[in-house]
Amino acid sequence: MSETMWVMCPVCSHKTRTKLRQDTELKNFPLFCPKCKNECIVNVKNCQIETISDNG
Ligand SMILES: [Zn+2]
Repeated sequence: MSETMWVMCPVCSHKTRTKLRQDTELKNFPLFCPKCKNECIVNVKNCQIETISDNG
């Protein structure tokens, strides 16, 4: 069994429906939050979530 964790929304801190494994890596991933309906572009590496400012 791999350990997984839910990704928290960077905007409202609500749990999103996106899961991460400990070894998951994401780059420029559009993370959608079902709570606040925001979509944030994030990078994920080593379970560290980095929000990328989307200035177009
Ligand atoms: Zn949110």
